Amino acid sequence: MIVGVPKEIKDHESRVGITPAGVRALTEAGHKVLVQTGAGDLSAFPDDDYQSAGAEIVGTAFDTWRLADMVVKVKEPTEKEYGFFRDGLTLFTYLHLAPLPALTDALMNKGVTGIAYETVRDAAGTLPLLTPMSEVAGRLSVQMGAAYLQKEHGGRGVLLGGVPGTLPGSVVILGGGIVGTNAAKMALGLGARVTMIDLNLNRLREIDDIFSGRVLTLASNSYNIAKAAEEADLLVGGVLIPGHAAPKLVTAAMVKNMKKGAVIVDVAIDQGGCIETAHPTTHSDPSYVVDGVVHYCVTNMPAAVPNTSTLALTNATFPYVLRIASQGAEQAIRSNPGLAEGVNTYKQNLTYAAVAESQSRDW
Ligand code: NAD
Repeated sequence: MIVGVPKEIKDHESRVGITPAGVRALTEAGHKVLVQTGAGDLSAFPDDDYQSAGAEIVGTAFDTWRLADMVVKVKEPTEKEYGFFRDGLTLFTYLHLAPLPALTDALMNKGVTGIAYETVRDAAGTLPLLTPMSEVAGRLSVQMGAAYLQKEHGGRGVLLGGVPGTLPGSVVILGGGIVGTNAAKMALGLGARVTMIDLNLNRLREIDDIFSGRVLTLASNSYNIAKAAEEADLLVGGVLIPGHAAPKLVTAAMVKNMKKGAVIVDVAIDQGGCIETAHPTTHSDPSYVVDGVVHYCVTNMPAAVPNTSTLALTNATFPYVLRIASQGAEQAIRSNPGLAEGVNTYKQNLTYAAVAESQSRDW
């Protein structure tokens, strides 16, 4: 199969769909890989590395798409890329079609097999191609929070780990899932006091075991959240109710009661955010202040660390890429129910119920 890897053109997207290691594995398996020139530059993978791994470097996006049987990307195609769609092409990428009817139509009209990273499931029923980005965002949330707590970034000047003779900073994490657990690891590593709040008591039991009691756990209710927010130097929002907007667990009144110069990192902002005062921000203008509390609410946090994010993402996506390349899309989908869950468009049909529902289409 010929696999095409275009350069991402969505604003601020710095990841790339395949690494040189992936190119080597594909070419060793007898496939041809076309990488658009500069595709890996922002992730610190130069053309030379792809070329030494066996890729052919292609000058334009047009040729990368035109010659490929399967295109492997990171983000959903932008309008500029719709013109590259054609019958029989397989597209493997994050698609997030629910709010994008025009992209859905473009894929269906051209008969593209659109396989969305975010809906592929593993045998345990989890979403393995979303997990690595939650891991990155969870760990990054504390790194960012620690930086914004510094005076020059508007924070209250607290060193999360403290030093002997001072109290360490207090990190409160809402949601004990993948984001929350990774945030807790980083915060503990820095020496902070960590409190985790979740609705799921079994998850809190697991957290208690995983961290041998070093993370304080609290059941999620507005009383506990209000008290924890008052104490927090850094508050991380990492809750998720799958398929729904994030619940506003921290009200504007609770934010008002937080310490001046405390920091909120609302990772759940991509689902609307779990803090009432949070609104989406970008890497070029990531933070703002409400009632003296610094808010960092970037919707695509992993793009800040594209080298790690690309490696983490492709570690998870690559086995599927190799399978599709080796078996052909149709056979790969038929033989793997989890991959079949990823198929959102197929032979001019919309094949994912939740997308049809959210776009009010007949199903
Ligand atoms: P997850 O499903 O692993 O964990 C979510 C946790 O929230 C679960 O433990 C759940 O029990 C808990 N929860 C649900 N309702 C709650 C409530 N009312 N009170 C307390 N806890 C509650 O999800 P995840 O992978 O950790 O992702 C969390 C969020 O981070 C998602 O919205 C995800 O899209 C987002 N995310 C954002 C970025 C970014 O760049 N901003 C990157 C990756 C993930």
